[in-house]
Amino acid sequence: MTRPSSRRLVGFTATFAVAALAAGCGRSETRMPHFNPPGVSAHAMQVYDDAIVIDTHNDMPSRMMDGYDADVRHEPGWGRDRGETDLPRLVESGITAQFFAAYVDARYAQTRPDESWARAEAEMDTIHAFVNRHPDRLIPGTTSRDVLRAKREGKVAVFIGVEGGHAIENSLARLDTLYAQGARYLTLTWNNGNDWAGSSIGVNGTRTGGLTDFGKDVIREMNRLGMLVDVSHVSDSTFYDVLATSRDPIIASHSSARALGGHVRDLSDDMLRAVARNDGVVNVNFFAAFLDPKFGQAADSIRRDVEARADSEARKPGADTAKVRAWADSVTQERLHALARPPLSLLVDHIDHIARVAGVDHVGLGSDFDGVDGLLPTGMLDVTYLPAIAQGLIDRGYTDADVTKILGGNVLRVIEIVLDRKPKAARAP
Ligand SMILES: [Zn+2]
Repeated sequence: MTRPSSRRLVGFTATFAVAALAAGCGRSETRMPHFNPPGVSAHAMQVYDDAIVIDTHNDMPSRMMDGYDADVRHEPGWGRDRGETDLPRLVESGITAQFFAAYVDARYAQTRPDESWARAEAEMDTIHAFVNRHPDRLIPGTTSRDVLRAKREGKVAVFIGVEGGHAIENSLARLDTLYAQGARYLTLTWNNGNDWAGSSIGVNGTRTGGLTDFGKDVIREMNRLGMLVDVSHVSDSTFYDVLATSRDPIIASHSSARALGGHVRDLSDDMLRAVARNDGVVNVNFFAAFLDPKFGQAADSIRRDVEARADSEARKPGADTAKVRAWADSVTQERLHALARPPLSLLVDHIDHIARVAGVDHVGLGSDFDGVDGLLPTGMLDVTYLPAIAQGLIDRGYTDADVTKILGGNVLRVIEIVLDRKPKAARAP
């Protein structure tokens, strides 16, 4: 798991020149040298360095709330002290803008009223504190101007997306508050549906249907505010209800192609074409189980097998259920990590598929780094490996201009359309 020792600084000088040019005022360049992943050519590094690179989904904040220190470097991989993202590697990756998820787990929706809201607020606080600690490296992001400024100054613009519509506790006023606090997308559901939107999975017997009338009000309110609607995780019927309701382009912040991965959590070809008609962007999730149906099926069977064994252990007289739970989690992780990973080329297959079905203007990157227990394709160890995607696309004949759109240009377009607009007059009471 150790990082390759030879790091070539390909593209560094050229980046300096481009950034200085973009700044147009002779301000000094502060960009750090990039890591050059193995097999990535000088040309691919140059395309990557010149591009606005945006990743629309990263779960590092939830790990920070569990004690992960994002201020220092970690090795990539699975485990408490490993991960795919931290400040040093974010900077080194050369990424321009990172959306961090303020993720609200389903369990908060099943406890007391206000628990989901409190969790969302705590996650937002964690993200704001991270940005505030590093004004030399990070800037808070809410508009395209912040993205362009980050590129110019060699910093990373940090955007916030709230994941799990149960966070708003059925209140448009709370949605407004999230926006006022800097959140710029809401993922309408997680694996649990809520009172107004259905989830593709519907864990714990939660809703899998479409939007209710209140759900449609949520979409209209997000349109009014200028906040991105995120359809990752939602059921098919909620997806189509969203597209029938939203006046703005939408995003899927971390979803892959169902035609290749076979997962209900991802977008079918018909859904991809609908996003294209909406002028939205589908940002590909790097999770091995979404990319590779063989990996997904093997992972499901491991989970079922361990759950069955854990259930029978927990039913024994005098069983310590907490211990059984911890045992089950650790055995599951060990067995998942023993599975053969799909290659990076399969991730590029998903991007290529979405570009062919929806068009090259409607695909982007939604890594889900630090949200998938390190179960990533080979050759995509952490955030510093993003240039490998530029190489994979160039190898398939994508032009530099198209690679630039996929790396972040498409998401920047949607940011300009939706987030740059000032909220319209206050909503009717
Ligand atoms: Zn998610």
